[in-house]
Amino acid sequence: MPAIQNVKGMRDHLPADMMLRQYIVNTLTRISEAHGFEPLQTPVIEYAETLEGKLGDDEKLIYRFEDHGGRRLALRYDQTVPLARVTAQYAGQLALPWRRYAYGPSYRGERPARGRYREFYQFDLDIVGSASPLADAEIIAILCEALAALGFPGFVTLLNHRQIIGGIARVSGLSEEAAGGVYRAIDKFDKIGAEGVRAELLKSGVAETAADRILELVQIEGAPAEVLAALEQRLAGDERALAAIANLRAVIAGLTAMGVPAEQYRVAPRLARGLSYYTGVVFEAITPHWPEGSLLGGGRYDDLIGLFAGRNIPTVGLAFGIDRLHDVMLELNLGPRPRTTAVAFVTLFGPEQVADSLALAAELRAAGINTLIALEPGNLGKQFKEADRRGVRLALVLGPDEIARGEVVVKDLQRGEQRALPRAAVASLLAEALTEGA
Ligand code: AMP
Repeated sequence: MPAIQNVKGMRDHLPADMMLRQYIVNTLTRISEAHGFEPLQTPVIEYAETLEGKLGDDEKLIYRFEDHGGRRLALRYDQTVPLARVTAQYAGQLALPWRRYAYGPSYRGERPARGRYREFYQFDLDIVGSASPLADAEIIAILCEALAALGFPGFVTLLNHRQIIGGIARVSGLSEEAAGGVYRAIDKFDKIGAEGVRAELLKSGVAETAADRILELVQIEGAPAEVLAALEQRLAGDERALAAIANLRAVIAGLTAMGVPAEQYRVAPRLARGLSYYTGVVFEAITPHWPEGSLLGGGRYDDLIGLFAGRNIPTVGLAFGIDRLHDVMLELNLGPRPRTTAVAFVTLFGPEQVADSLALAAELRAAGINTLIALEPGNLGKQFKEADRRGVRLALVLGPDEIARGEVVVKDLQRGEQRALPRAAVASLLAEALTEGA
């Protein structure tokens, strides 16, 4: 018999984990819809060629296979390339600019590690068809709003622009082709440090003086206005870098106007972001409590959709990594930890009371109270234990005496209290008490 186990790098999510994961997803959905984003769902499987040629070095991580008809298929690597396909395929039906959100699994053949899996869930937000810096600002503002709503302490969103790194490479005397190696080396800055990046740059053929210059520039720190002013001075003469700096200034003005607190973002010229399709602003959220990697990241990718659509469709977006958010929230003890979905447990006193008890359960649910029912009448003590073991807070009893008096006994298993409420009003009284947090 084969071992009973799940596939390496892919996880089962048991109920306790799922409840926190759903809380995260519900929070992100609520905030996305508050900004008018619309849901989109696409298949997990795409034609291999849809994904190929868009991911640079990461292409080797794609899971590819042949179906029964010999077609070359692949599991999606992210939800961005499928969005690009959809935008091109339904061009006539989608009014641009289009704000869409999407939640689902993606697959990468990575080496599994803490916070890194082969199947993981992403919640994506993108604004398709707008080059406005307000689109970048809105995505970043939602990111900050979401991390604050989830309770992440001390998170910071690092902001950069691909053409700032490009400019740093150019003023350091590197050719356009060599700049690609600079992105890749700088991307590892937080993992391997300045010395590691230096070694990597030298290995890729960058001269020592150029490597030192690059390292000095990518380590400029300070308030956003200071960092941008310093870069403006150092990159003077590089038109594309200066345009990038002006663009980042406009994005930051948008963030300020949207009310994003200044301590929630920073300009970090060392932020590269791995994916090769980014063309403009890039960003990544980090927290000092999780040095292993970013919580999420995104950026502007103005050329990707054009590969499918045949015309440029500027787009900016981000992907929340649900697994990573969940892992960090567990570790930092953030978010609610319900043990079950039910709040009330309706006991069954005896066979004669089953119908009345089921009717009571239906009333509670209609009043918005999640309710479990016992499945076997008899021994109330055992039923209370069952409710308590599951983590259900309230146990309700409707025996012959209660029915005669027109009452229901409500036992609060967590507080060890008990009271009798009028049968006719029990559902509304409990619903009211629960919404008031009693
Ligand atoms: P990316 O699509 O590479 O820009 O990643 C966006 C976010 O998805 C990251 O910041 C992570 O939170 C999450 N993510 C990416 N790869 C993985 C993975 N292998 N396992 C878990 N989460 C991941």
